[in-house]
Amino acid sequence: MSKNYVIGFPRIGEQRELKKVLESFWAKESSFEELNAVASKLKRRHWEYQKDAGMDFISSNDFSLYDNMLDTAFMLGAIPKRFQALEKEELYFSMARGNKTSVAMEMTKWFNTNYHYIVPELSKEDTYKLNASKILNEYKEAKALGIKTKINLIGPITFLGLSKRVDGGESYEFLDEILKIYEALLGEISILDTAITLQIDEPIFAMDNEPKVLSLIKPTYDRLASLCPNINIVVSTYFEHSNEATKILLYTPIWGIGLDFLYGEENMKMLELINSSDKQLIAGVVDGRNIWKNNITKTIQLLEKIAAQVHKDKIIISSSCSLLHSPFSLNYEKTMSAQIKNWLSFAKEKLDEIALLSKLFFEEDLNAYEQSIVKQNAEAHYDRSTSVMIHNYDVQTRVKNTTKQHREASYEERIKLQKEVLNYKDLATTTIGSFPQTVELRDARKNFKNKIISQEEYETQMKNYIDTCVNFQEECGLEVLVHGEPERNDMVEYFGEQLDGYGFSQNGWVQSYGSRCVKPPFIYGDISRPKAMTVDWTTYAQSKTQKIMKGMLTGPVTILNWSFVRDDLARSEVSQQIALAISDEIDDLQNAGIKIIQVDEAAFKEGYPLRKNKIPAYEAWAVRDFKLAVSSAWKKTQIHTHMCYSQFNDIIKTIEAMDADVISIETARSGNKLLKIFKEVGYKQEVGPGVYDIHSPRIPSVDEIVTQIKSLLEVLPKEQLWINPDCGLKTRKYEEVKPSLLNMVEAVKIVRDELK
Ligand code: GLN
Ligand code: ZN
Repeated sequence: MSKNYVIGFPRIGEQRELKKVLESFWAKESSFEELNAVASKLKRRHWEYQKDAGMDFISSNDFSLYDNMLDTAFMLGAIPKRFQALEKEELYFSMARGNKTSVAMEMTKWFNTNYHYIVPELSKEDTYKLNASKILNEYKEAKALGIKTKINLIGPITFLGLSKRVDGGESYEFLDEILKIYEALLGEISILDTAITLQIDEPIFAMDNEPKVLSLIKPTYDRLASLCPNINIVVSTYFEHSNEATKILLYTPIWGIGLDFLYGEENMKMLELINSSDKQLIAGVVDGRNIWKNNITKTIQLLEKIAAQVHKDKIIISSSCSLLHSPFSLNYEKTMSAQIKNWLSFAKEKLDEIALLSKLFFEEDLNAYEQSIVKQNAEAHYDRSTSVMIHNYDVQTRVKNTTKQHREASYEERIKLQKEVLNYKDLATTTIGSFPQTVELRDARKNFKNKIISQEEYETQMKNYIDTCVNFQEECGLEVLVHGEPERNDMVEYFGEQLDGYGFSQNGWVQSYGSRCVKPPFIYGDISRPKAMTVDWTTYAQSKTQKIMKGMLTGPVTILNWSFVRDDLARSEVSQQIALAISDEIDDLQNAGIKIIQVDEAAFKEGYPLRKNKIPAYEAWAVRDFKLAVSSAWKKTQIHTHMCYSQFNDIIKTIEAMDADVISIETARSGNKLLKIFKEVGYKQEVGPGVYDIHSPRIPSVDEIVTQIKSLLEVLPKEQLWINPDCGLKTRKYEEVKPSLLNMVEAVKIVRDELK
């Protein structure tokens, strides 16, 4: 009998083989056949890993050459007009990445993960039709290898909920049309085999849905699940509870329901109801989106709790979500401390955990090896819970005894003093921090890390970069300067590397979008700062100019949101520890003569919970810890923050409560429309709305920036505005940055003259 299950598996490859071949294909260095050969090799390997681990339910169609939402749009024939003349792979990749004549489709975050999907575009003018080939082929491919898979699909309600209508109107209006295609697809699937499991992912059910959306669930699943008697449908949700939908789904003819019991504890409330239904429960109990070794004892307790209400025969043990969100395997970690490595588990190791848990839970006999693993698991957890590497008494006491939680003076008092001391003009010009990262720079960092060049050589190279960067800004006529961040490859990793309590993997890549992966650092212990992290570089840069050099830090919430976080302490407490480390850094910077310090919170919005009732708690500690981080700043030290987005309507009061003196934001693409909310709520602090888009290589003209500045002035007075690009410049080339910034400064000059 089948007892265990994986929602989905990473596809990028243990050595990021897919990334490499994709990029080589895009560069026209590999053919499409070569790309497909790698893809087939990877699929095969991934299926075999799952099979060898003893998984009963292994997925097909969890693979993708770019993204599963894009695949779903493709399956439905939802091709935006601007791409309709193209075919096959050219069509597919143009939709994802754009081409010479057409912009790419939008991309956005997959729920509260760091994975980004392609946003489907729907329009009444288009007609949809089934293209089932990928799905059918992948099933057959696995079957030919002797592996019977379940088929993964993104569900129609999630698909529509995440799509956008380009012709105005509601995506859900297309439900009937799209269901017809799903039905046709099910027809094709049903002839593949005598009995087939179809996993339909509906993560949108884990959010707060309008009654109107909930009302679509029953008719949809009545239709789909009654169509083909040989197809068992599992509706799977994850990242939160989905109780509203569960209550409905249990009265449809689906076969099973997948629930996440780790990030959606409230799912426990549905157990009795599930038991009285005829549904299988795919119980997500192994964390699919974090890196910690499963605590077998605890998980068995959780499963027993579930089994106290749901008959054991109905339970199938599963990952909490697709393992897409975890790194691939610990096999390649050669430099990590053996002790820490023993606390971790990546996707491949998670398969073994699922297998072992199901054996334990269903009381199958364990062989000697499995018994030793259970014992080792307990030992690893004991070791972790008692390790001195994790528990830092000083940090814990400091968190408990912190009394100074915010800056002492009010904004009004601070800004008055700052304007006197810093003496900057209205519409002061600055940048967000990073300057172009050149190949030489990346090589220098890499060579230093690999001990190929000396510390001295490394510092010389960094200082040369800073010299050039500072000179360049002086020449441009910018007013508040930055050092350019040459020493950082990533705004979180850089700080993580210098904080105690942080660990790093060599190969812990997680797909972020398309061929892009990130390698988040992980927080395993109490966080402390052994020594200053940015003071040397910043003071060096300051020594090269009479102008104000802005210090550059990453804020606690962003550091937390872009790391894997320990699971033995509340996120809010980890965040507090980071905040204290940052507050020490601010103090060191100001003591070293730095007068303006920017604390980036690029990922502040990313941490928002999926469920509305959990938002106030998040906002409360996120704001608390930003304020704690900057609490050490003197009145006259000006604190800036930066956020990489423009939609502040829902969160403007929270942003205001963070109480930064200046916030720079990403408004370049929305004109002054999104700025208006700042005015509406009477936002007092200063604002630097990005005046040009750094995400494109395009150089904005002086006129264009003048127009942009004037439109900002329609909303906020000049005394409240700063002028800057809308994000860091590190992905751009100097040839683009130079004229752009010159034009920006020139535009400010023109507007200031006109205002005189
Ligand atoms: N200071 C960082 C930079 O300029 C901010 C990056 C970001 O907002 N993502 O690169
Ligand atoms: Zn940004």
